[in-house]
Amino acid sequence: LSTTDHIEPHRISVCVRKRPFNKPEITRKEIDVVSIPGKGALLVHEPKQKVDLTKYLDNQVFHFDYSFNETATNELVYKFTAKPLVQSIFDGGMATCFAYGQTGSGKTHTMGGDFTGKQQNSSKGIYAMAAQDVFAYMNHRRYVNLDLSAYVSFFEIYNGKVYDLLNKKTKLRVLEDERQQVQVVGLEEVYVTTSEEVIKIIQMGSSCRTSGQTSANANSSRSHAILQIVLRRNDRATTMHGKFSLVDLAGNERGTDVSSNDRITLVETAEINRSLLALKECIRSLGMNSDHIPFRMSTLTKVLRDSFIGEKSRTCMIAMVSPGLASCEYTMNTLRYADRVKEL
Ligand code: ADP
Ligand code: MG
Repeated sequence: LSTTDHIEPHRISVCVRKRPFNKPEITRKEIDVVSIPGKGALLVHEPKQKVDLTKYLDNQVFHFDYSFNETATNELVYKFTAKPLVQSIFDGGMATCFAYGQTGSGKTHTMGGDFTGKQQNSSKGIYAMAAQDVFAYMNHRRYVNLDLSAYVSFFEIYNGKVYDLLNKKTKLRVLEDERQQVQVVGLEEVYVTTSEEVIKIIQMGSSCRTSGQTSANANSSRSHAILQIVLRRNDRATTMHGKFSLVDLAGNERGTDVSSNDRITLVETAEINRSLLALKECIRSLGMNSDHIPFRMSTLTKVLRDSFIGEKSRTCMIAMVSPGLASCEYTMNTLRYADRVKEL
């Protein structure tokens, strides 16, 4: 590469992360059906002795921009997924990073990290690392003259409704004006000056997300959580310079788990399916540079409309998969979806 080549991140990158087995899976002696043979590749293999031959799958190979195996740290995943997007919000674009996958596959671990603070090595997630880099860029001589301020919002979409995680889960309305600008009316935007402040806000919002056991939306696997870091010019306080959206999506599994006493309702399932389908279509139209973005298909894509337009916008999807045979069908669904997002 010559030094004149400026390396731009892809407009859309799609990566996959395999999580390690957890204790119960090890105890059950679950079979590992996912392997990562090399950069970007992922292989799913079901054991030959499987009884129901109609469901038998040959080795299935997938290729993504990056594939991370069970030894990958959040730092490594961040470095190749969200980190390359930080610059685009300083250059006036929109950056968006999605965590996609079945419940229990590691979405929240990857985005939020481990905030229990009990462990010495409690790992940071993508939220915290992105926040750190945003402030590092802000003080960089290349951007310091832009005179930017950073603001954080954190909200949840459950059953097509928006709830503010920084304001007691207040239900908010989503409005679209005649210029197709979408606004979440009354959404808290907290002014922040350090990444430590951002981390505190995320902890507050995350505990708000999972609190209220009696409310219908207590189960976080059924809602999308969206953290946004917005850059605004100080000289023109109302104009947005760039926005980084970090999205912990609802679990993509279908409501087939009849054994669960906390069954997902048909309405919930339909809404999640609809929003994930809409998301796929919107990312694909960004990739094709299409003028028609079907963002009105769901609340999720409506509030993320900015992410799907503009020359400078960048999107990254991290598809999370569980390693075990028991999750194999969900894993295949996740990989097929990610494959469709990537394939243009
Ligand atoms: P999801 O948000 O997709 O439902 P979680 O992030 O809550 O899944 O992960 C489920 C469990 O697996 C959690 O206990 C989490 O700490 C653990 N886990 C997920 N990914 C990893 C990983 N890469 N390394 C270690 N533990 C992980
Ligand atoms: Mg989660």
